[in-house]
Amino acid sequence: MSMIEGVLMVDAAGCGPPGLCPDCAQPVTRVRSRYWSHVTDLPVAGQRMVIRLQVRRFLCERAGCRRRTLVEQVRGLTEPRRRTTTSLRSAMRAVATELGGRPGQRLCRQLLLHGGRTALLRLLKAPSIPDRAPRILGIDEFAFRKGRTYGTVLVDTRPPAS
Ligand SMILES: [Zn+2]
Repeated sequence: MSMIEGVLMVDAAGCGPPGLCPDCAQPVTRVRSRYWSHVTDLPVAGQRMVIRLQVRRFLCERAGCRRRTLVEQVRGLTEPRRRTTTSLRSAMRAVATELGGRPGQRLCRQLLLHGGRTALLRLLKAPSIPDRAPRILGIDEFAFRKGRTYGTVLVDTRPPAS
């Protein structure tokens, strides 16, 4: 742990089980590389906090799998392609839900939370990132009540991995 330019830096390393390939659902074991990722978390004791997280990049060696590598995610802390922790985004989403853009931005500034008005509003619209995105998507529309209320069904039509 160190303090750099007013930011509390905490070093951590992913060490949990590697898990499954999101595409073929087979266990991955071989580590291809490691690198440092910076993830902003909720402030601690009145200080901004960034976690310098060493993550592993795994190889999927299953023949026929289109994914070559996958980056380790720490459950409850990180999500793919996000530079803020799950708990920070959850707190900011609560602020955005209750206060909206500019008032939420002012409160976030007082609470040392990361991001501005646009980031807050984006959280209201951002869907969670699934572990694996569908490659073959089926779309169907139907009427709950014809001419009034319609529904849309999205189905991942790819067969489950065996
Ligand atoms: Zn795979």
